[in-house]
Amino acid sequence: MANYDVIIIGAGSVGTPTAFSLAEAGLRTLVIDRRASAGQGSNKAAIGGLRATHSDPAKIRLCLRSLDIFSTWKAKYGDDIEWQKAGYSFVAYREREEKILKDLLAIQKPFGLNIDWLDRDDFLKVIPDLNPDGLIGGTFSPNDGNASPLLVLHAFYTHARRLGAEFRFNENVTGIDAAGGRVRGVKTDQGEYGADVVINAAGAWATPLAKMVGMDVPVKPDSHEAAITEAVAPFLKPMVVDIRPVTGSANYYFYQHATGQIVFCITPSPNLWGEDCRETSEFLPMVARRMVDVMPRLANIRVRRTWRGLYPMTPDGFPIVGWAKEPEGYLLVVGMCGQGLMLGPGLGELIARMVKHDLAESDQEMLNILSPYRQFAGQEKLK
Ligand SMILES: Cc1cc2nc3c(=O)[nH]c(=O)nc-3n(C[C@H](O)[C@H](O)[C@H](O)COP(=O)(O)OP(=O)(O)OC[C@H]3O[C@@H](n4cnc5c(N)ncnc54)[C@H](O)[C@@H]3O)c2cc1C
Repeated sequence: MANYDVIIIGAGSVGTPTAFSLAEAGLRTLVIDRRASAGQGSNKAAIGGLRATHSDPAKIRLCLRSLDIFSTWKAKYGDDIEWQKAGYSFVAYREREEKILKDLLAIQKPFGLNIDWLDRDDFLKVIPDLNPDGLIGGTFSPNDGNASPLLVLHAFYTHARRLGAEFRFNENVTGIDAAGGRVRGVKTDQGEYGADVVINAAGAWATPLAKMVGMDVPVKPDSHEAAITEAVAPFLKPMVVDIRPVTGSANYYFYQHATGQIVFCITPSPNLWGEDCRETSEFLPMVARRMVDVMPRLANIRVRRTWRGLYPMTPDGFPIVGWAKEPEGYLLVVGMCGQGLMLGPGLGELIARMVKHDLAESDQEMLNILSPYRQFAGQEKLK
């Protein structure tokens, strides 16, 4: 039987950068995924938004580190991941949203986030095509950005392999060997592999893998729809997020990718629980009306493709990261909700420090927030 220091289940937004960081730390790493290549789960459904402007210290710190990694990747490793430092903007057309966004600033600013409130006229200088009617203003965080989820994963995959990590695709993990209260390896439909540490990075499918070691992990797949237009000349810089709830949707967001297409997504309300990834005929009319309302210029752009993918949701909207109390050596990195791509690189480095028992004080603080054994009583404000 082949033996490794660490086995990661899932070559997705989180498992792949984690393999990169573990291999960089000199650990013998195996990644197993039942799909044909890296990033074929929820990762490829992501639209590529990358931000550190969250509402809690753990996600802010992890994503600040991720943004450092994304923004310097090309200079350091040579791969073009289509990173753009284009910023994020949250619009306010009503006093309710103005208050929510301004209240959040009080939490975000002490963490060193570069984010500010802009009144209407200054906001329109950043996004000239916004509908000015009724616009109060919004927040703008210029250091956030976007990249291609597929190119990001391909880059991490290539460099993880270069550093010695092994990947096995088209292989389904069917069991965890945890004899005597400690992890010893995994069983798949094709063989058995030994390791002292097994990481569950199985995204929306994490719950059955946690059950294999007797853990109840509250991660539920939640279906979200997205779309992409034809490419047009650049006219829009930041991601535009509108958090006004209306019937059928909680919020929606869109940006112009480096290659010219507008990419967009909606948060359905109520949630669409389950693994149904068939596109719907409701999505496009609903989101298009909302988008054209805030940016009339979008009225004539042609939509090329829609798709649906899964958010791995947790009850409080925060990821679940931590060691199982039992069996020893079983590590959960699951429940990324709508932010797995942006969390991945920062989390990968944190996981490498956990496995090497080399945690800083700030790591411990983040792990307390993300603990699998927390009460799940809070609620993330910017899910
Ligand atoms: C429409 C949409 C838009 C989004 N936009 C963004 C965005 O702009 N920015 C952002 O950061 N996030 C975004 N997300 C969220 C993001 O896609 C997810 O949070 C992220 O992909 C989850 O990463 P993961 O590694 O946990 O799971 P995944 O990327 O799904 O990886 C899990 C892997 O585990 C494998 N697996 C599961 N079970 C087994 C098993 N038994 N054996 C072997 N392999 C197994 C799967 O095949 C899969 O490849 C979006 C999601 C959707 C649906």
